[in-house]
Amino acid sequence: MLLDYHMHTRLTDGAGEPRDYARVAVARGLDEICCTDHAPFENHDTDWTLKKTDLPTYVGWVREAQREFPQLSIKLGLEVDYVPGCERWVRELAQAHPWDFFLGSIHHLGGFPVDRDAEDWRGQNVDARWREYFALWTEAAGSGLYDSLAHPDLPKKFNFRPQSDFTTVYRNAMAVVAKAGAAIEISTGGLRKPCREIYPSEPFLRLAREFDIPVTLGSDAHIPEDTGADFEKAVALARRCGYDRLCRFTQRRREFVSL
Ligand SMILES: [Zn+2]
Ligand SMILES: [Zn+2]
Repeated sequence: MLLDYHMHTRLTDGAGEPRDYARVAVARGLDEICCTDHAPFENHDTDWTLKKTDLPTYVGWVREAQREFPQLSIKLGLEVDYVPGCERWVRELAQAHPWDFFLGSIHHLGGFPVDRDAEDWRGQNVDARWREYFALWTEAAGSGLYDSLAHPDLPKKFNFRPQSDFTTVYRNAMAVVAKAGAAIEISTGGLRKPCREIYPSEPFLRLAREFDIPVTLGSDAHIPEDTGADFEKAVALARRCGYDRLCRFTQRRREFVSL
């Protein structure tokens, strides 16, 4: 089965509505999609996250798509940023609608935007930023707030790569993910970015397999045409690393399907 568990709409930094992603998913023979627009922050709005007042519209759009495409399974999810101290808000959000899936993300390290622009990375201590990122990513994984952790090695997006060996950092992160019972995402989004590589890298995914960590699959589509993009590459990578199943979620309950 092929499931795309990561996509955005025009309510945030994407284009189109859930129905537009559903149409492409049906044409490409996907079995299931999950809309995961960027969740609102508790105390401030941005131009790339839902506003709290957008939530009913977003949920309504997903319900409409479900009615319009009965041949496709369409899940209701959110991509929810982890920032220190957000736990109470994320739990409140989880109660607000009957979500199927919460995808946890780190896009900011304090005031530093990880994936906004290559320029942000110039002059940075790259190794230190990577360590900072994985410290926060690991904290997010251990929080128990998320079903899966998005684009695990996102800091590679603009090809600013660490000089030092990150195996120990990855191992520690995987141990926490495993203990929390969360999944991680295999994201084809990186193939469309300067790094030209799936998130996470093959060595990272091999480690995840060693720790028996389940995986979700996502395109991180911001336009409907990218739904299911490069999934044959993601499936090949997953198989190479020893995976033969993916997870899907219904009202935050996990099931496995064969790849
Ligand atoms: Zn993201
Ligand atoms: Zn995303």
